[in-house]
Amino acid sequence: MERNFGEVVGINGNMISVGFNGNTLMNEVAYVHVGEKKLKSEVIRIRGERAELQVFDNTRGIGIGDKVEFTGELLAVALGPGLLGQIFDGLQNPLPELARQHGFFLERGVYLDPLPAQLQFEFTPAVKPGDTVGRAAVLGTVPEGIFTHRIMVPFNLYGSYTIESMVPKGTYGVRDTIAEIKDEHGKRIELSMVFEWPVKRPIDAYTERLKPTESLITKVRIVDTLVPVARGGTYCIPGPFGAGKTVLQQITSRHAEVDIVVITACGERAGEVVETLREFPELVDPRTGKSLMERTIIICNTSSMPVAARDASVYTGVTLAEYYRQMGLNVLLLADSTSRWAQAMREMSGRLEEIPGEEAFPAYLESVIAGFYERAGVVRLHDGTYGSVTIGGTVSPAGGNFEEPVTQSTLKVVGAFHGLSRERSDARRYPAIHPLDSWSKYQGPVNREKTEWIRRLLFRGNEVNQMMKVVGEEGTSLEDYIIYLKSEFFDSVYLQQNAFDPVDASTSAERQRYVFDAILKIMIADYKVNNNDEARGFMNQLRQVFLDWNGMEWKSEKFHTIEGELYRMVTEKSGSSAQELDERLREMFPAKPAASALQQE
Ligand code: ADP
Ligand code: MG
Repeated sequence: MERNFGEVVGINGNMISVGFNGNTLMNEVAYVHVGEKKLKSEVIRIRGERAELQVFDNTRGIGIGDKVEFTGELLAVALGPGLLGQIFDGLQNPLPELARQHGFFLERGVYLDPLPAQLQFEFTPAVKPGDTVGRAAVLGTVPEGIFTHRIMVPFNLYGSYTIESMVPKGTYGVRDTIAEIKDEHGKRIELSMVFEWPVKRPIDAYTERLKPTESLITKVRIVDTLVPVARGGTYCIPGPFGAGKTVLQQITSRHAEVDIVVITACGERAGEVVETLREFPELVDPRTGKSLMERTIIICNTSSMPVAARDASVYTGVTLAEYYRQMGLNVLLLADSTSRWAQAMREMSGRLEEIPGEEAFPAYLESVIAGFYERAGVVRLHDGTYGSVTIGGTVSPAGGNFEEPVTQSTLKVVGAFHGLSRERSDARRYPAIHPLDSWSKYQGPVNREKTEWIRRLLFRGNEVNQMMKVVGEEGTSLEDYIIYLKSEFFDSVYLQQNAFDPVDASTSAERQRYVFDAILKIMIADYKVNNNDEARGFMNQLRQVFLDWNGMEWKSEKFHTIEGELYRMVTEKSGSSAQELDERLREMFPAKPAASALQQE
């Protein structure tokens, strides 16, 4: 292809203005020539014969008149087997390899192949010469870790093709030709296991998008029970600095019932991403017993990298997630923190001298955020299988004020809101999701009538607590005080969860339903206590036993022993047997057809 050239006519931080004569496209990749180096950049505005480009590297040394080479190609990522387990920067440079070759102080203008030719896979063909295929059709498969990776017709090959030749089953390099196809006009195209896709375009090689209805079990009790997430749905975690957003995402990436996790880390602090990189490879996947990295991809940027790289990393992450969805897998994309990305947008918008919106964010902030979350979804693929991308993004508003544009724009599009509270994290009530302020539009594993009942209890408990701050414990009636104690009990034994206890760290859906019912029985019992002190003493004892119960392996002998002990205490204090409480519970919540989450399991 004839290449277009232009020259630098202006430099403003990470943005350069380029004069050119030929054609250029929005989001086209261009390289700025600085001495021997070529710095990657992306066209972000075109006006007549002048274009603005964001440069993904430090722009130091760029001068007026420097040559700019337009590639004619959109900013894209390489898709193929071998992505799992990798750590990339926003431009899909493999970071460990980059560090190995060039040291930790990343050199400018060095771009490495994310899927180098020497990478080999055992390929099994799925089609034969003469077969007709279209975009995303499966040409064959290779094993990638514990998954079957589908080698597909590139998603940008629209129309119908005939297989001309196909390699036999065997081991091949990812860039070797494995098939040759011919289009309707007889043009031949060679295919390898790798192809590219532009990151800013959602991958749409599926038959149908479906409404997300199936719960995504995170095994974090407060999430699944009170503010559930759906497979293919979206959620956000806004919270002040240090409230536990990053830790919560790490817990989720480890325990959530999904196949693959893609993490895009736009660091709050420079050290934070390094921590993630150091800790993550050591984490063990509770399902396979192997390294968690084998089903994880990390895209990472620190706050010291150019802002444009943050923008790229968010899109790179979601594109890789969509690619694995095409394998019929359930993928979870965790973006931490989207505020950093929004700040990058604000910075670029300022340089472009666009008319600013609220708090100087660009007026299109809302539509860009919506466009990102809309890439989540459950899809039915051409072969009838299903895949999903779920997106969870953290938001870190300054001072924890949720009334700012990034949080508000995000809240308009997501299906669940997990608001972290400074008050709860200060009290070390982890995970610090606020049970009353947070919400979800999705169905979780526990019956909604039951969770609504608990919400009312929490609400009343909170009212009593507020009142007690004024009138003191002595001025609070025994009846009110017991409501307060019960809500505190629920908080400490259910909403709070010990991320460091091997058993308590993750609670299956089945166990959540079971334990939630046990709690309801404890809540509806009438305790015969004479005063506030006695009530507090009893609930404290009960709490201790319950916390022990949380640490017991599900349905183990000890689990049942402690359960017996709990009911013995409840019966002794209330006079109601476990059976009586069971019956009352059934009267309060008559059995209904199972929720969709139950049918799935
Ligand atoms: P944020 O990302 O919101 O700034 P972090 O996730 O980095 O906050 O959490 C800050 C600190 O709070 C952690 O280093 C840890 O000490 C503590 N913390 C957060 N969540 C938990 C948790 N679930 N269990 C125990 N400690 C936690
Ligand atoms: Mg964080």
